[in-house]
Amino acid sequence: MNPLDVYFQYPITLIKGKNNILYDNENNKYIDFYGGHGVISIGHSHDKFTKAISEQLNELTFYSNAFKNDLQYKLADLLGELSGYSNHDLFLSNSGAEANENAIKVASFVTKRDKILALKKAFHGRSAGAVAITDNKNIQPPFGNNIKVDFIDINDVQALKKHLQTKEYAAIFIEGIQGVSGIWEANTEFWQTARELCTQTNTILVADEVQSGYGRSGKFFAHQYHNITADIVTTGKGMGNGFPVAGTIIDKKIKLEKGMLGTTFGGGHLACAAAISVLEVIKDEKLIENTKEIGNYIINKLENLDKINNIRGRGLMIGIEFNSISGKEVRQTLINKYGIITGFSGPETLRLLPPLNITQNDAGIFIDALTTILK
Ligand code: PLP
Repeated sequence: MNPLDVYFQYPITLIKGKNNILYDNENNKYIDFYGGHGVISIGHSHDKFTKAISEQLNELTFYSNAFKNDLQYKLADLLGELSGYSNHDLFLSNSGAEANENAIKVASFVTKRDKILALKKAFHGRSAGAVAITDNKNIQPPFGNNIKVDFIDINDVQALKKHLQTKEYAAIFIEGIQGVSGIWEANTEFWQTARELCTQTNTILVADEVQSGYGRSGKFFAHQYHNITADIVTTGKGMGNGFPVAGTIIDKKIKLEKGMLGTTFGGGHLACAAAISVLEVIKDEKLIENTKEIGNYIINKLENLDKINNIRGRGLMIGIEFNSISGKEVRQTLINKYGIITGFSGPETLRLLPPLNITQNDAGIFIDALTTILK
């Protein structure tokens, strides 16, 4: 048996990581500007993170949600404090797709509606519901053909009104910043109109912050740049710094009955210990402030470089589009010649999602390499 061959993979085997440095099995060193799809928030093998998990391993690794788990209360409390979402409650699961799947269920249960409104270029995950509200035919199996979902253009306020006023939709899903399709962000007018219309029409506003959340944008959640509160926020990726943990953060005014949501693994003791330590490090080391500062530094420096068409994003979620050189070629050269790992999104956008504790010196190494490549 082999691992199923469904990924486009680099022929590099990573075996060790510390902070933002990775090593392969031939002891080559890489600088991580991608965090394994934006998962590594506080750096690889952060001392406090490994300590918290190791200590929890010796206490209790897991027990099911049939029993109370104090660590879930501690995690929810801290998440409420840091995110400003203390009027919401937390349902824990294991992946971003699951967090969104649960948001779909909640919205549909409480509104008793069966349609979702989503945005073009959206990505919400790969489970049945999440992939159906994702705007990519190539990853949607026929199984989802009858799921009722409509897609509108980002920032098309007229389309937003036209659809939501029908009162047919259980929810609208909007990514804090669209990551997979190329770092696109809904503007303040769109977010605020969505908020107003959702309130008027009893539609649930879901902010998918799986990629853009947990400080990555320079605020705890990217939609908080637009002064709105979502009914449901979904999180994953950076929440566990590599330990699989995700959350569906649900307004307390949404009343659910017991049994409507459930999971075996979600919210287990080890996952909670990992997620608590991530939040403690984000708070103690002021990583959101660092993200904003280093993100602005990178974006300002990039603005002076030739052959760059467009720079998008906030904080340490940055998309770069080039002219006269392909994004794929830049990415290859960065890794092969400079040992710098980046990602891409959309057809041609270089995507940066480094750990939130990178320094100005790390940023400088990336800028210098890119400057040389673009000369
Ligand atoms: N939502 C967004 C915005 C994402 O970027 C992703 C993953 O890239 C997901 C949901 C799905 O998360 P997961 O792969 O953990 O299921």
